[in-house]
Amino acid sequence: VADTRRSFLALVGLAPIALLAAGSGSAAEPAACYDPAKLPLSQKSRRRANDYVDHSPDPAKHCSLCNFFTSAEPGCGTCQILGGPVNAGAVCASFAAKAKS
Ligand code: SF4
Repeated sequence: VADTRRSFLALVGLAPIALLAAGSGSAAEPAACYDPAKLPLSQKSRRRANDYVDHSPDPAKHCSLCNFFTSAEPGCGTCQILGGPVNAGAVCASFAAKAKS
């Protein structure tokens, strides 16, 4: 019984560390620029029609490199095509590379 109790106390003692580790892991994730559940229906259908994905699989193609992207805050911006907020690391079928200056 003492061993079980000791193990339990050790686990409880580690819980805050586990929570901190989980928190730092999510910090590496792209910023959540909007709540998908709160998007209006028009936004949802435009995203579907343009094959929008929050995480681009191609490092050379993502919203922050797109001509239709306006930066708002770190990791977030607005898309002229979708007419709403997007993650800087997202991409859609309407991607058009910004002209190089
Ligand atoms: S057109 Fe597509 S790739 Fe370009 S900013 Fe909008 S969502 Fe991102």
